[in-house]
Amino acid sequence: MKEKSLKWTTRILLAVAGVFTMLYFNLPKIHAWEIEIQEVQTAWSENADSEAQMNHLVIKETKTGEEPVKGLRLRIPEGILADDIKISKDDLTQTLKIEIPHTDGSYFQNDPVTGSSDSISGLFYMQGKKTDVIEITLDQVYELDIERDEKYYYFNFVKPHEIYDKIVVIDAGHGGNDPGANRQGIMEKDIDLAILLELKELFENSKENIHVYYTRTDDSNPTHEQRVGLANKVNADLFISIHNNSTKSGRVSSISGTEVMFSKSQEGNFTSENLAALCMEELTLALNSRDRGLIDGDNIYIVKNSEVPVALVEIGFMTNKEELKLLNSKEYQKKAAEALYKAIVRAFEEKEQE
Ligand SMILES: [Zn+2]
Repeated sequence: MKEKSLKWTTRILLAVAGVFTMLYFNLPKIHAWEIEIQEVQTAWSENADSEAQMNHLVIKETKTGEEPVKGLRLRIPEGILADDIKISKDDLTQTLKIEIPHTDGSYFQNDPVTGSSDSISGLFYMQGKKTDVIEITLDQVYELDIERDEKYYYFNFVKPHEIYDKIVVIDAGHGGNDPGANRQGIMEKDIDLAILLELKELFENSKENIHVYYTRTDDSNPTHEQRVGLANKVNADLFISIHNNSTKSGRVSSISGTEVMFSKSQEGNFTSENLAALCMEELTLALNSRDRGLIDGDNIYIVKNSEVPVALVEIGFMTNKEELKLLNSKEYQKKAAEALYKAIVRAFEEKEQE
């Protein structure tokens, strides 16, 4: 066993560390802490044939007399340039990944991270041959306010609505190995994404002050929990999910048109139904498609679990020959995106009149 693990340590990633909530959830919230390493002799397997060591990271109080750090302060290891540190954030999983060129010894032993754990629910440290990775799991979706000087990186975690007035989450259905409806080799996931990307371009060139989060902008397939979770966690004003329809049997048929699902159980001044109605109006106007009505979508996971006004649009039928051809064209996708864009702008206008 020992031999095997030593052998592997020369080949694969060296050490893995984790910190989990319960350790510091018991401590007073306002405190700032220092993170230091504590070895735990637990073998941790990422997969069957690799073994790495798991270290336990414990957060301690900042030394007295030191200026408390609001977010996190990360010391830049000696000999490493700040620019060589790669920082990335994934809103779907609420993780912040910090990749540091590998230095000898444990980063956490020599260069502790200081700060407050208020926004943090987990911390993971992995030493590799070339790169050491610190992965921080946040308790919510935050925007990062990053500053740095010669010695440190400073991370502040800001709630989206503290910097953005209007927030929308847009979801493209399916993805990855879930193609959704599939006709003649044309997959719904690709059409859903193409429309989302058109919409993304509109928002990028928009003068409207609307910030948009996307559940996917590539061929990935987030879970239903992650999709609706993003809308709930950023406390979006609106949540729109883009889909395309097919008949129950999946056979070619004359059935065509647009359907929009909403959550009947939602209450408030501007409801899911209000948003769905705007989407329907704009889509049918722009596409000249048949209005098949608003549909109670509370049997659909992301609709039912949305805590914010939600509309799931089924733009057209992929089982209809003519509509499939249209849906697969860039021109039609663009029109659909423009219609959704207008619906979103109108939704904010209506919300403001509340
Ligand atoms: Zn779908």
